[in-house]
Amino acid sequence: MPMTFDAIVVGAGFAGLYALYRLRARGYTVCVLEAEAGIGGTWYRNRYPGARCDIESLQYSYSFSDEVQQAWTWTERYASQPEILRYIRYVADRFDLHRDIRLNARVTAATFDENRCRWAIETEAGPCYDAAFCIMATGCLSIPIVPEIPGLAAFAGDLYRTADWPHDGVDFSGRRVGIVGTGSSGIQTIPIVARAADRLTVFQRTANYVIPAHNRPLAPAEQAEWKRNYEARRAAARRTRNNALMEHNSRPGAGMTPAEREEIFEARWRLGGLTFSYGFPDQATDRRVNEAAADFVRRKIAGTVRDPETARKLMPRDHPVGSKRLCVDTGYFETFNRPNVRLVDLRDEPLLAVEPEGVRTERALYPLDALILATGFDAMTGALRRIDPKGRGGRSLSEKWNVRPSTLLGLAVAGFPNLFIVTGPGSPSVLSNMVTSAEQNVDWIADCLDYLRANGFAAIEARQEAEDAWFGEVAAASARTLLPEGDSWYVGANVPGKPRVYMPYLGGVPAYLDACGKAAADDYCAFALTPADAAAGEARAASEAV
Ligand code: NAP
Repeated sequence: MPMTFDAIVVGAGFAGLYALYRLRARGYTVCVLEAEAGIGGTWYRNRYPGARCDIESLQYSYSFSDEVQQAWTWTERYASQPEILRYIRYVADRFDLHRDIRLNARVTAATFDENRCRWAIETEAGPCYDAAFCIMATGCLSIPIVPEIPGLAAFAGDLYRTADWPHDGVDFSGRRVGIVGTGSSGIQTIPIVARAADRLTVFQRTANYVIPAHNRPLAPAEQAEWKRNYEARRAAARRTRNNALMEHNSRPGAGMTPAEREEIFEARWRLGGLTFSYGFPDQATDRRVNEAAADFVRRKIAGTVRDPETARKLMPRDHPVGSKRLCVDTGYFETFNRPNVRLVDLRDEPLLAVEPEGVRTERALYPLDALILATGFDAMTGALRRIDPKGRGGRSLSEKWNVRPSTLLGLAVAGFPNLFIVTGPGSPSVLSNMVTSAEQNVDWIADCLDYLRANGFAAIEARQEAEDAWFGEVAAASARTLLPEGDSWYVGANVPGKPRVYMPYLGGVPAYLDACGKAAADDYCAFALTPADAAAGEARAASEAV
């Protein structure tokens, strides 16, 4: 017999834990199913050396409980993975969440029963679950990609993935290490591994724009000052494009002289981190401003990396700034000044294969004792496509998204009643502070469930025409920018066969919050609602027919 709940939440990361907290507090029975052996989601899995958040810790944290945000003390401007995981566990303990979480419970199937208006959810471990609502808190970057490099399986050394690092860490001392991938994960791993390894070879396919984090300890006085105005700061953050306070500048760069722009770039570089994206409101839309930003970063690389040929290879030239996720580092470019680090540019010498002894490019064999893959994720749709929920008429979500990854507000999909996604494609999610954006999505879902309960509805389902209209808005917002130009995971370019669609909503958090608020205030008229009586009648008819 399946275990029965009002709601099943899939995933015990920031989003899933908050969904449990919120829905339980509203009186729903909830069970969280988590594939891994521990809670924390992305912060449980991404344990690689140097893993650190690139949104400031005082902001990348739950806002729902003032007690928690006052009680918890962050040690650094940008929190490390172990500290974030400690924080997540602290919150789970504080709100007694563990009793409703099943670990090692990878969801393998989710099927909507139209007659009963309920979801049947199966797990790898065996038990089945039955719930009125299925809430997918499966994360945007949770399915790592292992590239199809010939010979990879035959590598005689040790193979590691940043997204699935050994719990006990790895000692690279005295070893020849290679790493493939220079996105956010790679650029954080490289400086740390370089310090330990005998030799580190970095295999780079695309050079990235990398901005210094300027991470530092958080002074008690600074933190206390922030906490005095926490609520006001959270509210102000929600009014920004990305749900985070980071010195947004409203003066366009297009009308400025190069010298004026340079001054602002320099100030941003000194501030560090993602603030560099917000130097100018037209940096993502005006090609000249964007190119000026790109040129600024290239000159910084030239000024940091001593070998001119290595510096040249590290300079991104083939995509606008921000079209691939900006990387935030600590000592990345400096690492290439170490005598034990070398850069292999796979544009100059394409990677042919992995052989038992190492990596073979068109030019040479690089002998290795260990190889690290920091090769990214099947982003935004990967986790859901893997579960592949079956909705009305047995329709598969994966098949639907093979055409295009459309949703209504990133929250719901036509044909999939009572299925909610937290920070799905079509929401600002990955372009914003994920924690507070997830909270907002969960609050919206909780309010929706309350509405259904109060008004006697058994099911809610996005209307196809509303979903199409929102997909159009998401596409229009990205078309106004240069950002779809990069071959990034934002557009699915890193997964063979994935439709090329800029998945996150680029219209900014305030516009998104308005759209979500309006959808609820309009009595969910963008959704089809099934009265509980009708659902009960259908269920009776179905059981009589049997
Ligand atoms: P990513 O940005 O997609 O980077 C993957 C890297 O692997 C790219 O350099 C890619 O090259 C390379 N690659 C993939 N397949 C390859 C192949 N067959 N041969 C050679 N190179 C290959 O993935 P990620 O670094 O894991 O980051 C993903 C996202 O996670 C980030 O953008 C960020 O949103 C998030 N993240 C955040 C943090 C943080 O908060 N600090 C840290 C880590 C990750 P191409 O560019 O040529 O495809």
